[in-house]
Amino acid sequence: MLTPFERVPVPPEVDDVIEIVLNRLPKIGGKTVKEREINRLLTYINQVEKYSTFVNKFPRIEKLHPFYRESIEILADIDRIKICLFNTKRTADLAMRALREGIQKIKSSDEDQANEIMRKTFGRTSSILRKNRECTSFLIKVIVQLKKMMTVDPKLPTVIVAGSPNVGKSTLISRITRAKPEIANYPFTTKDIHVGHIREGDALIQFIDTPGILDRPNSERNQIELKSINALRNLSGITVFMFDVSPFSYYGVDDQFSLYKEVRSLSGKKVIPVINKIDEKDETYYQSLMKLINNAVEISAEKGIGLEELKREILKALGIPLNRGLLDN
Ligand code: GDP
Repeated sequence: MLTPFERVPVPPEVDDVIEIVLNRLPKIGGKTVKEREINRLLTYINQVEKYSTFVNKFPRIEKLHPFYRESIEILADIDRIKICLFNTKRTADLAMRALREGIQKIKSSDEDQANEIMRKTFGRTSSILRKNRECTSFLIKVIVQLKKMMTVDPKLPTVIVAGSPNVGKSTLISRITRAKPEIANYPFTTKDIHVGHIREGDALIQFIDTPGILDRPNSERNQIELKSINALRNLSGITVFMFDVSPFSYYGVDDQFSLYKEVRSLSGKKVIPVINKIDEKDETYYQSLMKLINNAVEISAEKGIGLEELKREILKALGIPLNRGLLDN
């Protein structure tokens, strides 16, 4: 899937651009001194053009899907991005104009003035670029981070897999989806997010887990995590909430259940409760959980038990017709 950010070519930092041009200067020739100096400035133009292209290809933030927009908001101040886009474009235009003027001057100058004009133009252009160095650098960092995080496609029906740490979220995604899940990197969390897909007929469904986001009580969440939940609310689909009923579960039934209730109100989506690790269930945990929820799907993500039924429930909740054998995926 091509995200709006993959098409954006990342230019070098300002200091690197200046160094690239500086290093090339001695290697650039021409039939005459004037031609050589013009060729040198043309080399600089090629580099400066990278900034114009960068700004032109940078996605218009207001046109992005709200999931992306809110993800960007977590990463950086949108107003600053807009200001820096404007400044970087203006800087590139000014630098371009300086270089073109330099070329014109060389054309109408004597041979012995050409090098001097090139040097002055080089200096002027570099100082124009340097004035906006911080803005350019900020935009480069933003786009690099955005490229890393956009494995999630907000246009696909989505299954968000939530639950306390270690309940088996990533195991479920890797067992239920077709290929090896991709790893996404979000400003939401320092942890990797797993993204997998299943295909049912014409429909492609995306599964994502939520380490560090929907895995602990609201009272323990910081501002970024709260914003992340808002971003997740923009994905259309459902949530699967996993319970761990094994004796090794780090979290007791009560903790898991209160998180479940929170996720139900926070996620803004239908939530399917799933009891995982039934291959190793602790009877007491299991019974007390059964008293609290009565419509859970019981599975063992690891042993592959109950996954067909879970897929059926998921498809039903997403309103996707069941076309063929579920285990074809
Ligand atoms: P996450 O933190 O929720 O993503 O949990 P993981 O998928 O990393 O699983 C945590 C641990 O539980 C791993 O050691 C898994 O092998 C184990 N696990 C996951 N599903 C099952 C299951 O169905 N049965 C058992 N016995 N162990 C499981």
